[in-house]
Amino acid sequence: MNMKLIFDRGQTGRRGSSLPAMDVPAKTAVPERFCRKTPAELPEVSEQDVIRHYTLLSRKNMGVDTNFYPLGSCTMKYNPKLNERAAELPGFTDLHPLLPQLRLGGALTQGALEVIYETQRLLCELLGFADCTMQPLAGAHGELTGVMLIAAYHKARGDQARKVMLIPDAAHGTNPASAMVSGFTTQTIATDAAGNVDIADLKKHLGPDTAGLMLTCPNTLGLFDPQVEEICRLVHAAGGLNYCDGANQNAVMGRVGPGLLGFDVMHVNLHKSFSTPHGGGGPGAGPVMVGECLVPYLPVSRVEKRDDGTYTLRYNCRDSIGYIAPFYGNFGIILRAYAYMLTLGREGLKRVGENAVLNANYLRVKLAPYFAQKVDRPCMHECVLSATPQAKKGVHALDLAKALIDRGFHPPTMYFPLIVPEALMIEPTETESRETLDEFINALIEIVKLAETDPEAVLACPLTTPVRRLDETQAARHPDLASV
Ligand SMILES: *Cc1c(COP(=O)(O)O)cnc(C)c1O
Repeated sequence: MNMKLIFDRGQTGRRGSSLPAMDVPAKTAVPERFCRKTPAELPEVSEQDVIRHYTLLSRKNMGVDTNFYPLGSCTMKYNPKLNERAAELPGFTDLHPLLPQLRLGGALTQGALEVIYETQRLLCELLGFADCTMQPLAGAHGELTGVMLIAAYHKARGDQARKVMLIPDAAHGTNPASAMVSGFTTQTIATDAAGNVDIADLKKHLGPDTAGLMLTCPNTLGLFDPQVEEICRLVHAAGGLNYCDGANQNAVMGRVGPGLLGFDVMHVNLHKSFSTPHGGGGPGAGPVMVGECLVPYLPVSRVEKRDDGTYTLRYNCRDSIGYIAPFYGNFGIILRAYAYMLTLGREGLKRVGENAVLNANYLRVKLAPYFAQKVDRPCMHECVLSATPQAKKGVHALDLAKALIDRGFHPPTMYFPLIVPEALMIEPTETESRETLDEFINALIEIVKLAETDPEAVLACPLTTPVRRLDETQAARHPDLASV
């Protein structure tokens, strides 16, 4: 059934509810001049027609609750339902953000403030930092906050010449954007043949204008750079600060404290690694953790614990960069992260990483014989394969992805990172079973073999979807939402 059909099904006078006739005069608070003169053209349908329409539409959706979803650079897709329950508790969802913190309605907000405070404390401990703000509303917003802190640090020291942010080409694309928005210029650092930062190139770029370095860790090749401590030392020696883009933490959390390796500031995506799935376009949370040198500049408000055990919000922080978001960040997401960390505990968080790495490497090793790889070494939470052998025969990464849809799998991320031609960035996550991984591997191998014998058959995919291949540019610029 499609959108047109629900209109076609409409019959004048058909209703989804049956209410008794009104026995009081009709009255509206809307001023007459705002009232429409002709009724809206809406389908008049029964309750059952509406329910069927939306249920059928929902079944066309492919999501993690129905299919394997190996989209790279989006760690953690399955969000434990327990944490959804925690986020639904009415004592939290019914709180008004303007309720006072202590007197009057204060008792109502103490629990929420405690959740924010404790989540900050757990993140700082897990990642090795001194303090934290939960305010940023997305990963990129966390980056923006982080580079604003770096700018405030240099400014407070009167070090106005530091205007250049160094960004390796294996960083996430939001990094240069965040640096530019905060008033820095950017310079790109090359990746070496092993997939790490090219140290010689880094040294060439370091100097009195270096504000800092933004390192995506693990990087977009899914690799952990073993030179991290050396890189941080070099940047510090040149007078810059080190930023860690830790959007995807689930391979390393509980194992590596970036704050202990030399990073001064870092963000994580709670909506990737801490129980809220990424990709749904819903709200996010990108808390920023800092070392001692950046604590004075953290945004307001700050949650503080008083000696009597109560919590309060502080606004008078002299050196703060100010507000970066209203109220307290996306509280529901913070709550899920808190529940997630408490249910898993220290050991459980480490196990997440072990299984994420195991699953990604299982896929990588099984699929490597059929693809090219930029580097052949163990990966972290995701692996990047290159479909250059298939592309030579006219079957591209996009075509392989479309063929996967017909076999019941959500495609992996394609054509990213940019430094890998025909990239397929596959991230299985820790929650998938070996059986599911094997099914995916077999499907992809079958498609690769089909590409050799009958490339046209792969190019014709998808055959099972309501629409075939869309003109994605047209779809973004002139979306037609009614006639699918
Ligand atoms: C997803 C991601 C970001 C951006 O996060 P958003 O919440 O989408 O703004 C930044 N860096 C890395 C490495 C990411 O994977």
